[in-house]
Amino acid sequence: MILSKHTFLADRINSDDALILNYLSGSIDKIEKKELEELKNRISLNNWDNYHLSDYMLERGYLYSDKDVEEDKINEKYLEFMDEYEKTATQLIFSTSYVCNFSCVYCFQEEYNQNSKTLNNEITDKFFNYIDKKFSNEPGGVYITLFGGEPLLGGEKHKNHIMYFLSKAVKSNIPVAIVTNGYELKNYIHDFKSLGVNIKEIQVTVDGDRENHNSRRFTRSKETTFDTIMEGVELALKNGYRINLRSILDKRNIASLVKLAEYCDEKGFLDYPASHFETSIGRNYELHSCQDTKQLFSRYDMWLEYFKLSEEFPILKKYHKPGFHGMRMLAESGELPVPIFDSCPACKKEWAFDANGGIYSCTATVGVSKYQLGNYFEKDTPLNQEKVLEWQTRDVLTMEECKDCSVSLSCGGGCATIAANENNGKIHSTNCRPVKELVGIGLEYYKIGD
Ligand code: SF4
Ligand code: SF4
Repeated sequence: MILSKHTFLADRINSDDALILNYLSGSIDKIEKKELEELKNRISLNNWDNYHLSDYMLERGYLYSDKDVEEDKINEKYLEFMDEYEKTATQLIFSTSYVCNFSCVYCFQEEYNQNSKTLNNEITDKFFNYIDKKFSNEPGGVYITLFGGEPLLGGEKHKNHIMYFLSKAVKSNIPVAIVTNGYELKNYIHDFKSLGVNIKEIQVTVDGDRENHNSRRFTRSKETTFDTIMEGVELALKNGYRINLRSILDKRNIASLVKLAEYCDEKGFLDYPASHFETSIGRNYELHSCQDTKQLFSRYDMWLEYFKLSEEFPILKKYHKPGFHGMRMLAESGELPVPIFDSCPACKKEWAFDANGGIYSCTATVGVSKYQLGNYFEKDTPLNQEKVLEWQTRDVLTMEECKDCSVSLSCGGGCATIAANENNGKIHSTNCRPVKELVGIGLEYYKIGD
């Protein structure tokens, strides 16, 4: 018998409980204290002779009779994953320009070419002609995400161009998501309604309570923005649009999430079902430009800090439900998620386009010339297939480092752009996630194993 390469132990934070997990078999078990030492010893030696738990562990997929049986299982699960993946909708990001009415302290697009084109109807027509040709047979369909810069700028001219773009989406029967800073949102809602746009979601970024948000996300002329944004959020919710309220956190603003949660609760936002109102938390990190790294969190440190805050201020548990690598799903449904062989949808289920005709892999690369893959203005210019293939073939089975990684089926290899930026542009390189540690937090956060 051999240990599955996907079996690992996780320590529940703030307790001496340990659990054994395997994302390939979807198994998780609490380890009795008296068993822990021997189990650790056996795992380190991979010796299962005369072990009283080996039959149970074999049944649960922590052990395999031999390597080939596990490889067969991996192949079977990989095909299932690909089948399901194929059926998911493809996200077509459209960056309307790199112009923004905000001047956020951490914006990585600040250094982008501000002379680039802004949206007009001719660009919209070219974009829709292109996607009609290239994406009309996607098995899971497509949806468009409007992105920027800022897609919802003020000014009649820009608004008319956006509404023209949206009318093309309506005609093509394509749902639309919008990623916005929310400042002009309230001035768009009525037009969305009149046009009958099928809006999947409006993602609005609010970085904590009024004071903290206003100190980070202000207009170019240094006007505060919190109250105006929240008016838009409220109006959108009242009109039946789904809001995803996203906060970008670092050491300066994480504590202010508590007051934001209280604010949302008082406003009644947290009473909407998840299908209508959701929150997400992102980490402020260095993507393409340098920042004051002393203020930035590692992924683990951010969630640890969030966890500590949530213990002190339980409103956070009502406000946000982190995934913690399947722990949320386990708490809600009693099951671990299916294995994830690939967590990066770039050039597979996500593509990005800008108003200059550029084609890119995703939101993280759009506008960065070294990552450009093609141009949809030029009818006969093919995509750089060699590059596209690099993005498309990146998963945990193609990257050597990931093949034998015990947490690969929840990590999925991480973000290819971050990995490439850190490894001389090599797309097939890893962006490791601290899966065991986050599972350890998630076990306690959701009180799993009590
Ligand atoms: S490269 Fe990173 S940002 Fe882009 S799709 Fe992949 S995971 Fe997402
Ligand atoms: S990126 Fe790192 S943590 Fe993720 S699967 Fe690969 S080796 Fe494992």
